Amino acid sequence: MATISSLAPTTAFEVFVAKDTFKFNAAHFVAYKGFRERLHGHNYRVSVRLLGSRKIGPDGYVLDFGCVKAVTKKICKDLNEHFLCPMRSDVMTIVVKKDDSCVDGGTITLTCEDGSVFVFPEKDCAMLPIVHATTEELAIYLWGKILGALNSDYLVKRGMHTMEVTVAEAVGQEAVFRMQIPDSSASEDDVKALSDVGSYIKNGDIVPMPCPTSTEAAHGSASVSSAAAGLPPVKKQKRSEECGDGCKDCQAKLSAKLQQLAEAINAGSLGGNKNKVDAKDLEDLLSKSEGSGR
Ligand code: ZN
Repeated sequence: MATISSLAPTTAFEVFVAKDTFKFNAAHFVAYKGFRERLHGHNYRVSVRLLGSRKIGPDGYVLDFGCVKAVTKKICKDLNEHFLCPMRSDVMTIVVKKDDSCVDGGTITLTCEDGSVFVFPEKDCAMLPIVHATTEELAIYLWGKILGALNSDYLVKRGMHTMEVTVAEAVGQEAVFRMQIPDSSASEDDVKALSDVGSYIKNGDIVPMPCPTSTEAAHGSASVSSAAAGLPPVKKQKRSEECGDGCKDCQAKLSAKLQQLAEAINAGSLGGNKNKVDAKDLEDLLSKSEGSGR
């Protein structure tokens, strides 16, 4: 029979803080090898969870919510209405030109793989130590900032062992970063390393998503046109977005197929020696033409 101690939860208390002030509106685009999103923005939301206390403090708190509120609100405010610039991008050249005499503080120029160039006022940019402006990497970055501001020694003294930061870019679209809180034996470098975005990124080639409805499958001709121009293939649609009814690539493909069928019908070359043409004859014709294009 199980004893009470073996049934006891390892975590008795946790605090979770997600206030209306934990938000920032910001512009970004995700870029990695062979891919770039269009510039766009989100109303990001942040929440913080601290795990681990088996007992509340003599003040009756696990941790005063006010500490988490003040720190997280300030960090979100610093990002609000900025372009989130991934300063460690491995596919963009980023040049910062400081100019203190200029009201904007200078400029930041981003040159992308496909030759696109973005120039922003320096003061409009949040220059972040991340490789990609994804919610995952923003969660790691914010985890480090929030931990630094809350003071990890203090959290450990109060019984916390883990902190979790969630970043949502839209309702139902969020990334969570959860990591152990370092204690006082950790060096400053150890603490920094925990929020080093680069250390969490796998090396190696990007494996394309096999989803047949992804834009990669639906928009193959975009890659062809980039290659023809001597540029790397860059897809500008968001990930996993299905091809819409108004997609020009798909309309062009459909028109080409219909033209091919019309020509075959007019030439009387469909159906062999049969009197009537059926769906199988049409399918055979189209699959032959698709196969020959490779
Ligand atoms: Zn986005």
